[in-house]
Amino acid sequence: MAPVSHLQTDVSLRPFNTMGIAARARLLLPICTLDELHAIRADTALNSLPRLVLGGGSNLLFTGDFDGLVLHMRGAGIAIVGETSDAVLVRAAAGESWHGLVSWTLAHGLGGLENLSLIPGSVGASPIQNIGAYGSELKDCFHQLTAFDFETGELLHLDRAACEFGYRDSVFKHRLRDRAVILDVTFAMPRRWQPNLRYAELAQEVAARGWTAPGAADISDAVIAIRQRKLPDPALLGNAGSFFKNPVVPAAQRDALLARHPGLVSYPQGDGSVKLAAGWLIDQCGWKGRAMGAAGVYEKQALVLVNRGGASGAEMVALAEAIQRDVEDRFGVRLEPEPVFV
Ligand SMILES: Cc1cc2nc3c(=O)[nH]c(=O)nc-3n(C[C@H](O)[C@H](O)[C@H](O)COP(=O)(O)OP(=O)(O)OC[C@H]3O[C@@H](n4cnc5c(N)ncnc54)[C@H](O)[C@@H]3O)c2cc1C
Repeated sequence: MAPVSHLQTDVSLRPFNTMGIAARARLLLPICTLDELHAIRADTALNSLPRLVLGGGSNLLFTGDFDGLVLHMRGAGIAIVGETSDAVLVRAAAGESWHGLVSWTLAHGLGGLENLSLIPGSVGASPIQNIGAYGSELKDCFHQLTAFDFETGELLHLDRAACEFGYRDSVFKHRLRDRAVILDVTFAMPRRWQPNLRYAELAQEVAARGWTAPGAADISDAVIAIRQRKLPDPALLGNAGSFFKNPVVPAAQRDALLARHPGLVSYPQGDGSVKLAAGWLIDQCGWKGRAMGAAGVYEKQALVLVNRGGASGAEMVALAEAIQRDVEDRFGVRLEPEPVFV
């Protein structure tokens, strides 16, 4: 069994979360191999501690210090591992950066992930909330993943159905929460690739560049350009991307809201439900650009909460709750945070 070496104590988590919250962890351990997870499970003292699996820290809000063991996923490696009649299978270790993987696939002439370019964070976290952007979701190219089950000590091999992907959702937020550590993810990159320009803003960006037959790398460039215009760079302004999910409501509720708020922005879903643009709801409540202490709402996009410098987790939560109250009072819709509160 591998020894649990490299265990660090009383660690600042500030460099490990894109929100830039100054929390501390009792213990932190970089994880590169399966043996290390077995060793933790076999160690009664370590195994009894609260555990946090950490990737890039871009979808977390530390609400205080973490009195437990942080497992920082560092496993590396990307490779083509097989082929099917209609796809090339690419496997990446959990600790690889997501955008690094997207760039790798594009450099190998494999399209499919380009609409998800520049999403921060790790490959291992990407299935947790079925990351999505610009008309595409992780599940569209997902093949299978391997995870370590802390409850049984066994390896899980989960296909798409077993992951129960939904909108910013998966089995890892429910039945396998606090239990499964994702070690690697395999993607099925389609041989017959087609551009996905369903998202209007992306289609407009491509058209504006005069591209009539864009390749996957072109679409990646367009996505990167849009993202860089719209979203704050966490290296310059702490944030966790969209702070709230877009609420999904029945069509009848949307119709009632639309009668009272003719500008309501909504997107019909395949199943008859409707997604409301959370950013629009927040903006209508006058929050864009406002702040409570050092916690603020990004002035270009009301869906993004930012740390203007030195905000505590509690301040960010207070701001989020004030926004939730206002949106609920005005529209009768409860916003659900997207980042995981720790
Ligand atoms: C500027 C910005 C833009 C963003 N844009 C988008 C976007 O367009 N679409 C989108 O979907 N998201 C977006 N996000 C959110 C975020 O980038 C993604 O959710 C990303 O997948 C989080 O990866 P991470 O490695 O940082 O996860 P972390 O924040 O480290 O962890 C998130 C959750 O996953 C768990 N976890 C992490 N790794 C593992 C693992 N190996 N096994 C088991 N559990 C694990 C953690 O315990 C935690 O519960 C954005 C964030 C930022 C800062």
